[in-house]
Amino acid sequence: MAMASEIKLGLGTLAVHAGQQPDPATGAIMTPVYQTSTYVQEAPGVNKGYEYGRVTNPTRSALEANLAGLEGAKHGICFSSGVAATDAIIKCLKPGDHILASNDLYGGTYRLIRQVFGPFGIESDFIDMSSLDTVRKNLKVSTKLIWIETPTNPLCKIVDIKALAILARESGAVSVVDNTYATPILQRPLEHGVDMVLHSTTKYIGGHSDVIGGAVCTSNDDWAERLRFLVKSAGAVPGPMDCFLTLRGTKTLHVRMQRHSENASEIATFLESHAKVGTVYYPGLPSNPGHETAKEQMDAFGGMLSFLLVDERIETAMKVLSGTELFTLAESLGGVESLINHPATMTHASIPADERRAAGLHDSLIRVSVGIEDVDDLINDLKGVLDSV
Ligand SMILES: *Cc1c(COP(=O)(O)O)cnc(C)c1O
Repeated sequence: MAMASEIKLGLGTLAVHAGQQPDPATGAIMTPVYQTSTYVQEAPGVNKGYEYGRVTNPTRSALEANLAGLEGAKHGICFSSGVAATDAIIKCLKPGDHILASNDLYGGTYRLIRQVFGPFGIESDFIDMSSLDTVRKNLKVSTKLIWIETPTNPLCKIVDIKALAILARESGAVSVVDNTYATPILQRPLEHGVDMVLHSTTKYIGGHSDVIGGAVCTSNDDWAERLRFLVKSAGAVPGPMDCFLTLRGTKTLHVRMQRHSENASEIATFLESHAKVGTVYYPGLPSNPGHETAKEQMDAFGGMLSFLLVDERIETAMKVLSGTELFTLAESLGGVESLINHPATMTHASIPADERRAAGLHDSLIRVSVGIEDVDDLINDLKGVLDSV
């Protein structure tokens, strides 16, 4: 829908309509799963814009246009996973280039930058990006990429996107926000001046814990061209069925994010008032150091939070982790069902323990992805287990 990018439509309208057209062949209202590897040509080079399934696929194009619409971007480019999207961006760097990244971030991003790209000569530092001074001190002449997560995973720190976008521009580095936690419904980083937004669409965008995918949105033509070249040349593409499922997810994203945020806010307040609970990390809490910045750059505070118990022994945290009934112990986040996770041994195990601790990630931290169930049931579940430890 060309209309969507020209007139300022609301996010709910964009979620349902951006980039969507009835199927030209049948009028099917939902873009079909174009399960094909190749496309017939009338004569060599004479075709309908589709030549080979790795390069383009109509189901993928519909998803890309939808995500671009939501992020207010000119281009959306989909990948087979979030890490494949990250991989494509880093592949555009050269040996000796330096990445400055948040020290509280998705463990797989750390692993990719250090263990996969380190041996190819990509330098990196992981720092506390909620402090602008720290960012300034760690910028190098060779810094070519600033990798931002906000809210950070799992400590929900808030990074000032606008300030970092300016710093990046001044220092000649490209800036990327991993917007997986917030989604475009709650936060649109391109409006704050960053060059690219990255998503693990596996999480909130897909939303139903049934598909893996990734995406980059940007209005920078050069970057879009580089990434499309990598889609074609390196081939980390999502299948048509995966794109269909993800597109089905995006259409309810605004409704789900609202519920995730409401539930998480109530749960954060409940946890903060519980005698057995120590620090609660949630940007929606006025006690959170990033709360004011979060209010400026987010429309609501999302469904992710983490907390420590007053009793900081790991055994006690383990009792909570395996004692809930509605919160299922599992990696991942952003689905309709509530999950509970132990970052130190699960999602963030690939970050060395000393670096994890230096970043403030306590060994007994508990992370929850709050689902869209009835919040009273979720609170009762947590209350039951907390009262018992
Ligand atoms: C899950 C996740 C990723 C990686 O995405 P995959 O789809 O699992 O490859 C990247 N960033 C964040 C914040 C994530 O939560």
